[in-house]
Amino acid sequence: MSGGNPCLNCGACCAFFRVSFYWGEVHSDFAVPEPLTEPVSFTRLAMRGTNQPSPRCVALEGEVGGCVSCSIYENRPGPCRDFEAYDAEGACNRARAAHGLPPLEDNPVAA
Ligand code: SF4
Ligand code: SF4
Repeated sequence: MSGGNPCLNCGACCAFFRVSFYWGEVHSDFAVPEPLTEPVSFTRLAMRGTNQPSPRCVALEGEVGGCVSCSIYENRPGPCRDFEAYDAEGACNRARAAHGLPPLEDNPVAA
């Protein structure tokens, strides 16, 4: 991988974790599209497709490891906004490994 944003050719985290968040995010400034969510408790929703044994968010476009994008990028929920790309020791590389993608070793943006 040579420079640039590795997320644009990855998407592994969108097809690995359950993406759950407080239901109020559909009515917040984020305005997460409610039809793309499902309830997982009285107070929490999840992005559809992520609350299953082989998760894949319904908003993910493209194939993991190829050219991908989030169809609701401007309205994505908090966990997606807070997720740390380039977190070499953490969840990012766990998701990448699960999809057979090589680990990211550093942050080319911060370097
Ligand atoms: S797993 Fe890491 S590199 Fe891949 S899309 Fe998510 S944050 Fe970006
Ligand atoms: S809402 Fe977008 S960024 Fe969040 S998991 Fe789904 S595709 Fe990925």
